[in-house]
Amino acid sequence: MSTSDSEQQAVSSQPEPKSGRYFRKHADFFTKKSGDIMLQADDEKRVCFCFNLVQLQAASSFFRDLPASSHPTDMVDGLPRYPILESSSDGLHVFLLAVRSLSQVAPFVLPEHIIQSTPAAIYEAAQIGARLDVPCIYRLLDEALSGASHIFHTPFILFAIWELSAISSKTMSASRSTLDLDITAVDKYLVRAVHVQSPACWLELQDLHLRRAQGMARVRSICEEIVMGACRDCGRDGRAVTEEARLRIIQGAVDGPEEVAAKMRRVSFVSVCGACQGRTRKHIDSLHDWYMRFISEYRFLAPYESPKGGW
Ligand SMILES: [Zn+2]
Repeated sequence: MSTSDSEQQAVSSQPEPKSGRYFRKHADFFTKKSGDIMLQADDEKRVCFCFNLVQLQAASSFFRDLPASSHPTDMVDGLPRYPILESSSDGLHVFLLAVRSLSQVAPFVLPEHIIQSTPAAIYEAAQIGARLDVPCIYRLLDEALSGASHIFHTPFILFAIWELSAISSKTMSASRSTLDLDITAVDKYLVRAVHVQSPACWLELQDLHLRRAQGMARVRSICEEIVMGACRDCGRDGRAVTEEARLRIIQGAVDGPEEVAAKMRRVSFVSVCGACQGRTRKHIDSLHDWYMRFISEYRFLAPYESPKGGW
C-alpha cells in the first residue's frame, strides 16, 4: 500500500455543519463516544480526532488544569473543538495513539507508514506531549521505537525525544547511541524539526560527533607532548619509554575510538623496570579517562583540557 493510499484510508472528509467548511476525521479516532472532545491539528490538513477528555486529563496536566470557562464554544461534528496549536496531523495522530495505549492492554505500536515515510511525526508527538505536559510520552515513544530498531535513524529520534524531556541522564545515553550513526544522512525534516526546536541541542550533538571523529588527532598531539624525566630506579630516559607507549597506542590509527581506548587499557611494557611501568601506566590511564570523556560526553560544561600535568 502506498503512503497516499494509507493516508486516504486514514482520513475522511465531512462538511462542518455550521461553517460549511470541510473537516477531516482520522479513521483511528473516528467514532464519537460519550465524553469525547474533538482535537484538531494545526497544519494545512487540520485533521480532527475524537478523544475522551477524562482519558486525556489522566495523562496531561495541561488538560487537567484547564479551567472550565476556557472550554471552546465552537463545535465540530457535535463535539467541542480543541485546536492543538503548532501540531501537525501526523504528530497529533502518533501522540493520541500513545496516550490511548495507556488504557489498553496491547502495547503502543508506531504505525509502520509513519516510521517509514514521516519519522518527524514521532518527534512532533513528543513535542506535543511536552507542550501539553504529558511526561509519560517520552517513555511510550522510546518503548515503541525499540521495536523499530531496523530504521536507521531511530537512535537520532530517541536522542531528540529525550532531549525534549530534559532528563539529562537519558539525553546523555541517547546521545551516545547516535555515535554509530551518520547524522548527516538522517531524514532532513526530522533534522530541521530538531534544529528549529532547539538549535543548541543540535549543535552539541554535532560537536559530540566531531570530537569522536577528531579524538584520535587529539590523542596523537597529546602523545607528542610527552615529557617524562629519567627513571630514579633504572636511570632510563623517560622519553624512550613514553615514545614506546605512544607508538603502541597510535599505531594503526584507522582504529575506531573504542579500539583506541581498549589499546590504552591493555598496552604493557615488559622491557622496563617496575617504576617506569607504574608511572607510564598512570599517565596512560589519565589519558584514557580524558579520551573517554572527550568522545562521549554530550553536554560539556568545562572545556576539554589535556590531562593534568600532561601524561
Ligand atoms: Zn625505570
